[in-house]
Amino acid sequence: MADINRNYLKLPGSYLFSNIGKKVNAFAQANPEAKIIRLGIGDVTRPLTPKVIEALHKATDEMAKQETFRGYAPDLGYEFLRKAVATNDFQARGCDIAEDEIFISDGAKCDCGNIQEIFATDNIIAVCDPVYPVYVDSNVMAGRTGEYDSVTERFDKVVYMPCTKENDFVPQIPKEKVDLIYLCFPNNPTGAVITKDRLQEWVDYANKNGSIILYDAAYEAFISEENVPHSIYECEGARNCAIEFRSFSKTAGFTGLRLGYTVIPKDLEAGGEKLHPLWARRHGTKYNGAPYIVQRAGEAIYTPEGRAEVKEQIAYYMENAKIILSGLSDAGYEVYGGVNAPYIWLKAPNDMTSWEFFDLLLTKANVVGTPGSGFGPSGEHYFRLTAFGDREATKEAIERIRQL
Ligand code: PLP
Repeated sequence: MADINRNYLKLPGSYLFSNIGKKVNAFAQANPEAKIIRLGIGDVTRPLTPKVIEALHKATDEMAKQETFRGYAPDLGYEFLRKAVATNDFQARGCDIAEDEIFISDGAKCDCGNIQEIFATDNIIAVCDPVYPVYVDSNVMAGRTGEYDSVTERFDKVVYMPCTKENDFVPQIPKEKVDLIYLCFPNNPTGAVITKDRLQEWVDYANKNGSIILYDAAYEAFISEENVPHSIYECEGARNCAIEFRSFSKTAGFTGLRLGYTVIPKDLEAGGEKLHPLWARRHGTKYNGAPYIVQRAGEAIYTPEGRAEVKEQIAYYMENAKIILSGLSDAGYEVYGGVNAPYIWLKAPNDMTSWEFFDLLLTKANVVGTPGSGFGPSGEHYFRLTAFGDREATKEAIERIRQL
């Protein structure tokens, strides 16, 4: 008799954003006149840039001709894109990463969620708290997390690393031995970054203990300050202990197009085996490659014009971040992030819980954000706003919150 993967039943509640969606829809139905401003889900709102559109058109035309038509893409990505990525995102920054260490995919979420498959099911994972939910949930599905305790809101086999204002939202190295460490900088949801020295401590720790760091740099393009590493491979020894994930989603507005990549250095090993061929095998077996036209669009962001356009798009969002940050801070809110990341992490006033503040903002200001507790227990009493909205709507939302 067929049975299900019972680990799925251990997933705590439904996905955060579907809960938010349900609440917002119910409110919108009951209050059709309300002009709701959504600064909750981290989706972009600006259109694709001209250079990206040009590349999409050109590649589409190629698909229409016998001589230039392309079928299945190479599993690991077209050479033109892997080369552009290795050269521009790594070698130009002094990181020793070659093009055949880049695995092109349709986004960082799939890669972050799937990477755990190549590791043993008894490996202990360490995650930040609060955290992007995909890291824990994908390990729950794989049966790696033990049992869920609804009181502590934690799985008993997972090591949670609190990220609080006391540690500048950068986790301490855990006392217990951990095997797989998920780090995300610039961080979703807190907007925090890690200095190169602090990241080097993590790399040294991982190399000493035989751990692997799974480094999610999906928001790398938003870094504006010096001394903030853009890649974990800026740290010495990272080739021996780290995998890095990147995404075109927020960098260039590709959330609807879908493109990302994972870096696995050829020397990287776990359990005495190289990880590069394992991921290549996994990718080749379960994935048939990102579309040609999308990979051409990705290539376009590395041209001089493409780069300038993408920079301008990021500047637009970061201006929104500035408006949110200064508006809320002037109004007396405790605010974090928003300088090297498109997320603003704020403390709910008057000791309100995250969901109480969510309800207040939705019903009184008609503004939607994300309750911090949805990202983990240490996110309780916090709230995330994103800078991905339209400029006028962002200004309006902040004005409404100030007037509350
Ligand atoms: N990693 C983090 C930390 C994210 O916040 C997101 C998207 O919100 C992703 C990965 C997913 O990116 P992609 O759109 O490339 O799947």
